[in-house]
Amino acid sequence: MNLGSAAVLGGGPGGLYAARLLKLSQPDCRVDVYEQSPPELTFGFGVGLASRTQRNLQAADPASLAEIVDRAWSHEMAMTVAGREVRLPAGDLIAIGRSALLGILRRHAAAAGVRLHYGSRVTAAELQADLVIAADGVNSASREEYRDSFGAEVSTHDGLYLWCGTDFALPSAVFRPVETEFGFFTAHAYPYQADRSTFLIEAAAPAWRRAGFDLTTAQTAPDASDAHSDNANATSDRAAPPDT
Ligand SMILES: Cc1cc2nc3c(=O)[nH]c(=O)nc-3n(C[C@H](O)[C@H](O)[C@H](O)COP(=O)(O)OP(=O)(O)OC[C@H]3O[C@@H](n4cnc5c(N)ncnc54)[C@H](O)[C@@H]3O)c2cc1C
Repeated sequence: MNLGSAAVLGGGPGGLYAARLLKLSQPDCRVDVYEQSPPELTFGFGVGLASRTQRNLQAADPASLAEIVDRAWSHEMAMTVAGREVRLPAGDLIAIGRSALLGILRRHAAAAGVRLHYGSRVTAAELQADLVIAADGVNSASREEYRDSFGAEVSTHDGLYLWCGTDFALPSAVFRPVETEFGFFTAHAYPYQADRSTFLIEAAAPAWRRAGFDLTTAQTAPDASDAHSDNANATSDRAAPPDT
């Protein structure tokens, strides 16, 4: 089907990538991306790209993958489970800063002829095009608005994570579940550039609550650091035998 025009709602990795592929496959189609934030505004740390993801990106668009690989940081992985360490060799595992990834995808979309519009929030209904691609992220308002037509189903679970960054590069990625008196907490960290690593702590909600982090979160302003959690062990009288 030849399209005259396509509008992509959302200029994250998904929207930018879809826009470039569409423009490359249909050069005569006018492709516009609408992103609410300014181009340089994002947050987040390193985005990990596993080998299967890289194979998929290679098949879809080798040029943008080459630049992603060039900017990415490759690392090996050390998994420590029940006191035993397993190392996965470097080569297949890479990570790239989210802002660097967005910059690359933005340039490649523009180079293909995609028109990029930043700074205004839009709705799918406002976009006049033969095809509208809703790429507005995990909390997509478009998915909610057209939930019945698309048959969208969303289920949420009770896994929680704390997503942080460090100002140094770890020598390798780390994956380490630890059983505490409150339940399991898993540390997962990986380097993504010479002076940066992503650092995640994951826990099931019951373990998180038993450790008292629900209380420290409630005591902390949304834009403040959770200094109360330093004293989380003071709440250990809430602890029950770990079952998660
Ligand atoms: C802020 C952030 C930080 C992240 N950090 C990491 C990380 O450090 N490591 C990692 O591995 N993964 C990270 N991720 C996850 C990974 O980047 C996602 O898998 C990926 O971003 C999904 O891409 P997407 O394009 O589907 O959605 P998103 O990246 O969420 O992009 C959706 C875009 O749509 C825009 N948008 C939404 N609604 C509208 C509207 N009405 N009008 C205009 N624009 C709209 C949003 O501003 C956003 O830019 C992060 C995701 C986010 C959103």
